[in-house]
Amino acid sequence: GQGDGPLLVLSDLHRHFGGVKAVDGLSMQVRAGTIHGLIGPNGSGKSTVVNVISGLYTATSGGMSLRGSELPQGSLNRVARAGVARTFQNLQLFSELTALENVMVALKGVYRMPLPLVLLGFARAEERHAQADALALLELIGLKDQARAKAKDLTYGAQRFLEIARALARKPDLLILDEPAAGLAHPDVIQQIEIIRRVHARGVTIILIEHHMDVVSELCDQVTVLDGGKVIAEGAPDEVKRHPKVIEAYLGQ
Ligand code: ADP
Ligand code: MG
Repeated sequence: GQGDGPLLVLSDLHRHFGGVKAVDGLSMQVRAGTIHGLIGPNGSGKSTVVNVISGLYTATSGGMSLRGSELPQGSLNRVARAGVARTFQNLQLFSELTALENVMVALKGVYRMPLPLVLLGFARAEERHAQADALALLELIGLKDQARAKAKDLTYGAQRFLEIARALARKPDLLILDEPAAGLAHPDVIQQIEIIRRVHARGVTIILIEHHMDVVSELCDQVTVLDGGKVIAEGAPDEVKRHPKVIEAYLGQ
């Protein structure tokens, strides 16, 4: 693995929206090489945490570091370059582009061609490399056979898998999945578990937001439970499941 130090450290993180304390003094550590579950009832602040880590929102206060270096704030691009990728709770695909093109667009940030090389005709070779990379990612998610299908013509499950491939295009150290199983039929949930395992086996650390507790138990090494923007429990999946505060928070839904 990548050692057992923390990859991501959040310290007393706050994100307020007017009077709403969506994230209210959150501290947590994600160890390198783990699958870390982030769970909690609706409105407990999970997506806001992801939005702050990934640079979509700035924090109101608090610290975030990746491998001991301060994480840039408020810039999706700079956070991506630092090695963090995410998917969204709602799909963000280019529906008229093919599966392959969707991944290639995501790879654009990786393959940056200097203009002189393009003029000398080397762009084609670069394009071929990008295509090979994209096809490898489609294979990882089981969509290689549908590389030429438009995103809008893929099943909903396949579209969700494609989002994961797009997030992986930038070769992140940390991948954050915000409710990737939302709306999936059972067979697709099973396939998605397999995909997440394959991604993890490549050495990618994963934060998984997921409300199916059986999926969390199956995949996660460690779980942090949020309620009202605060941590109410932390530990192995089977421990937190039995925690009285966790049971109470979920019963209140
Ligand atoms: P979860 O993902 O756990 O369901 P969210 O992070 O989406 O929770 O929301 C936490 C709280 O923050 C909710 O009360 C929500 O209404 C509020 N919130 C989230 N995003 C915004 C926003 N952009 N503007 C105002 N309030 C927000
Ligand atoms: Mg959410």
